[in-house]
Amino acid sequence: MAQYNYDLFVIGAGSGGMRTARTAADYGVKVAIAEERYLGGTCVNVGCVPKKLLVYASQFKEHFQAAAGFGWTVGKSTFNWPSLIANKNQEIGRLQAIYGNQLQQSGAEIITGRANLLDAHTVVVDGAKYTAERIVIATGGWPSVPDMHGKQYIATSNEMFFLKRLPKSIVIVGGGYIAVEFASIFHSFGVRTTLCHRGHKLLRGFDEDLRDFLTNELARKGINVLLNTDIEAVESTADCFTARFIDGSKINTQLVMYATGRMPNSTGFGLEGLGVELDSQRAIKVNADYQTNVPSVYALGDVTNRVSLTPVALAEGTALANKLYGDRSRIVDYETVPTAVFCQPNIGTVGLTEAQAREKYSDIDIYKARFTPMRNTLTGIDEKFLIKMIVVPGTGQVVGIHMAGPDAPEIIQGMAVAMRAGATKAVFDTTLGVHPTAAEELVTLRRKC
Ligand code: FAD
Ligand code: NDP
Repeated sequence: MAQYNYDLFVIGAGSGGMRTARTAADYGVKVAIAEERYLGGTCVNVGCVPKKLLVYASQFKEHFQAAAGFGWTVGKSTFNWPSLIANKNQEIGRLQAIYGNQLQQSGAEIITGRANLLDAHTVVVDGAKYTAERIVIATGGWPSVPDMHGKQYIATSNEMFFLKRLPKSIVIVGGGYIAVEFASIFHSFGVRTTLCHRGHKLLRGFDEDLRDFLTNELARKGINVLLNTDIEAVESTADCFTARFIDGSKINTQLVMYATGRMPNSTGFGLEGLGVELDSQRAIKVNADYQTNVPSVYALGDVTNRVSLTPVALAEGTALANKLYGDRSRIVDYETVPTAVFCQPNIGTVGLTEAQAREKYSDIDIYKARFTPMRNTLTGIDEKFLIKMIVVPGTGQVVGIHMAGPDAPEIIQGMAVAMRAGATKAVFDTTLGVHPTAAEELVTLRRKC
């Protein structure tokens, strides 16, 4: 490959790009990776990691309240947002350094700056030209906010991790992952929280029972959940903002956050000039091997808008590097992608929803359990745990598991392994429970609904 500077040039050092670069470099090929903003990308800097730290921080208030039932007298507790953000920033800095070291140790060269494609084998960063046999686009996504009056006043998830102070009130627009997670976080910190969604239920695409359960629980906890509505305009007043709704009603609030989806980062760095095909959502179109219509250019992760989750971007990076340079092929299983929503109550889910299963199979069995998790006893908290399992009669194959309750994301990981291994309902039924846990309900589901 002497005609090129590198075998592989990766654009974007987020989850997908870093994994591709490191795995390829481990195979001994010459790799460069360009990053314009932050090593680790969205997940590490303005996504999964800082979000989960905020989730942990926000849960203490309920823990302090619950402690009394278990005999504890907790002294006056106060919360300091700037101190949380400073500690979070320190932790992110630590992770960035680790990622930098890992890349360097793998042998990949890190090039800092915005990459632009000059042709199918040439990338320009800060005026310097680099050629490569293959180029991988792993540029991720960016918050997408609809056009409306007052758009300049709103914040997106990008800004939420760097707020100078905790607002007293917030209006969050959207009904997806980010909206419900941030509504839970801010409500738990004691912020007067309104969640405004254009649909009739939150979390479109999730199982209907989970959607009903979550929508009710968030409202029961005290979040002002407004459904079938939208914001027409945001106005700035002396000391706050006014969110004006389509029905003419208004809410004064200290902060308006939009969590209305993310758009692929696919424009403005030369893909257009190369003729790389995009779909109607501006996602880069790729074949099963992550190759675009320009043979030397590949794409993976959020920029392809398939399943926008970190483990998926990581798996795609591994799969592509293995395919190009390795002897181990590893296909990404898009059928059983487990996922969690870190709202309160937590959600964990894997496999088909009931509606999807009804479409795919002529008959299905549904098992459900709804119970008070033991940790809520003695506390006065009457939040329930919901478990739902979808089984194909005859084969007994378990094709979907949906859970809402404390630690559901931790439990669903093991369920995803069982489902991929083809576990049937009989296997679940003959597996011994771990007692006393919420998870044991999964092996004691007896009654069909
Ligand atoms: P990214 O991580 O976005 O990386 C793309 C990188 O490319 C960025 O660093 C960017 O700066 C860089 N870049 C872009 N253009 C250029 C250019 N021209 N030149 C150089 N560099 C460039 N997923 C989960 O699985 N679990 C969660 O709990 C979770 N929580 C989330 C919470 C939030 C608030 C958000 C926003 C996302 C969350 N996600 C979560 C999704 C997850 O973060 C993404 O799916 C994942 O980061 C995608 O990885 P990626 O490599 O495709 O893109
Ligand atoms: P989502 O796609 O999950 O949700 C977007 C929400 O915004 C939907 O409720 C949608 O409504 C609504 N919406 C879209 N456009 C408009 C509009 N013009 N006006 C009003 N409402 C609108 O996106 P998020 O931004 O929440 O998150 C992006 C992605 O990041 C997620 O899909 C997920 O892949 C990933 N993520 C994963 C997390 C995790 O794993 N825990 C956490 C956070 C993000 P409707 O349903 O009607 O379309």
